[in-house]
Amino acid sequence: MNHRPFEDWMLEDLAMTAEQKRDLQSHLRTCTQCAALAGVNLALASARVVAPAAGFADRFQVRLAAQRQAQRKRNFWGFLILVISVMTVLSWLAWPILKVVLDSPVDFLSTWLSYLLSLWFWLQALGQAGSVLLRVIPTFVPPYVWALAAFALAGWSLLWVLSIWKLTKIPQGV
Ligand SMILES: [Zn+2]
Repeated sequence: MNHRPFEDWMLEDLAMTAEQKRDLQSHLRTCTQCAALAGVNLALASARVVAPAAGFADRFQVRLAAQRQAQRKRNFWGFLILVISVMTVLSWLAWPILKVVLDSPVDFLSTWLSYLLSLWFWLQALGQAGSVLLRVIPTFVPPYVWALAAFALAGWSLLWVLSIWKLTKIPQGV
């Protein structure tokens, strides 16, 4: 039996002429296969797509906005508490220094100036030593050690960048 045109008509849901409809009806009476297909087609056509309740999208938007605002509020208070606790700890740690500064500002300034000067001299000495080392070391360090060091540095930087990227990524996924 040839089912071809009837199957196509039903599956593609085409507009049929009166003659085609008559042919289809007479074929369906004789062919159980196409009759079953017609039954499935009818069931699919009568099954309506379930629409969401009216205003669902609006309510969802409102709830989402409220949740976001609550999240922002929590973030703000968390940040404030963090800042206050850090300030408290820092001022507690820095209190002896602050006390010295308040007691004798001139002494403190001169101490700091001498400290900065010694740091400056120390850095200069370190720079000179470093430049000497850079000139001397390559003569007795094999090149593969430099390659290894460069490789390790590159891997470490990659890890560092990745971890920063991951840390900054997490809070966005709400
Ligand atoms: Zn058929």
